[in-house]
Amino acid sequence: MFASGQLPAESEYYQETLAMYMTSFTKKTLGLETGGEPAVTPPAVGHTSFVKKPKLATSKSKKREIPEGLWTKCPKCSTMVFDKELDENLKVCTQCQHHFPISSRERIHSLVETCTFEEMDSEMTSVDVLDFTGVASYAAKLQKYQEATGLKDAVITGLAKIGAHRVALGVMDFKFLGGSMGSVVGEKLTRLIERATEKGLPVIIISTSGGARMYEGMFSLMQMAKTCAALAYHARARLPYISLLTNPTTAGVMASFASVGDLIIAEPGAMIGFAGPRVIKDTTQAELPPGFQTAEFLLEHGLIDAIVSRKEMKRNLLSYLSFLCAGRHAAAR
Ligand SMILES: [Zn+2]
Repeated sequence: MFASGQLPAESEYYQETLAMYMTSFTKKTLGLETGGEPAVTPPAVGHTSFVKKPKLATSKSKKREIPEGLWTKCPKCSTMVFDKELDENLKVCTQCQHHFPISSRERIHSLVETCTFEEMDSEMTSVDVLDFTGVASYAAKLQKYQEATGLKDAVITGLAKIGAHRVALGVMDFKFLGGSMGSVVGEKLTRLIERATEKGLPVIIISTSGGARMYEGMFSLMQMAKTCAALAYHARARLPYISLLTNPTTAGVMASFASVGDLIIAEPGAMIGFAGPRVIKDTTQAELPPGFQTAEFLLEHGLIDAIVSRKEMKRNLLSYLSFLCAGRHAAAR
C-alpha cells in the first residue's frame, strides 16, 4: 500500500502522462470546442497557468511554418494528425490507433445520450485538512488546477442514459492533480454508488489515476476502503459494476475500486499497475517481462476481461449492460 506513498506530482506515471498532455494538446483549449450540445456544464474559460510551459517556446519555433492548433503529432507513429479529424475520431490516431488522453467531459460526451447526464455533487471541493505545504501549498495547488481545468476535483459523477440503460457513471480526469484520489473523489464516487444501489442501477466507473492524493494523508487512503465498501453493498443488491481502466490507472485507485468490477475492461495500450516499474524493479531486483503493466499483458494474465478500443466502447458497454441486466429486466416484467 505504501509503495504508492509518493506525491502524485512525483510519480513516474504522472510525469510521463503529464508530458503527453503538454505535448499533444497545448495548442488547444480544453475539450468541447467541436460543437454540439454539451451534456454537462462546459468548463470555465480563462485558464492559462496550466497550459503555459516553457517548453512551448521551443516547439513553436521548430514548426513555425505550421499554423497553430491544427495538427497534433502522434507520439506512437509520429504521423501529423489533423486536430479536427482527431476530435472526430474520439482522440484516437487515425493511422496507428494510439489512444490520446481524453478529458472527463469529452469522455462523458462520447458515451451518454445527449442531455441525459445529471451531474451530482458538482460543487464539492477538497479541504486542506493537514495544512499541507510542499513546493506549493495544497490549497494553492487546488486553486491552480481548478482554474486550469475548469473542474472542482478529479472526478465527475452523475446519472445518465447509455442507450436505453440508466446508469450511474463516474469519470476520472488525469488533468486534475494526476487524477489522484482525495476525499472528494472518494466521497463523490461513494455517493454515486450508494445512489445506484438505492435506485437499482448499474455502476460504470472510468478510471485514470496516479493513486491516492498524499496531500490529504490518511484521508485519501481511507477512500480506498470507503469506495469498496459502497461497492460491496451495491454487489449485495445484485447490481452490476463495470470498471473501465484507461491510461494510466495505478496505485491506490487500482488497489481499490478500479480492480473489483464484475467486468474489468481497459483501453488498448493503457498502463495499469500498482507501483511504478522502476520501484518494482528496484525492490525485486528482477528484470521485468516485456509489456509489463500494459492492458495487453494483464489481459493475457487474467486480471482484466477485455480490451476495448474507444471507438467501440459505447457499443460494447451497451451489450455488456444488456447482458448483465437481462435477469433484472426479465424479473421486472
Ligand atoms: Zn499514430
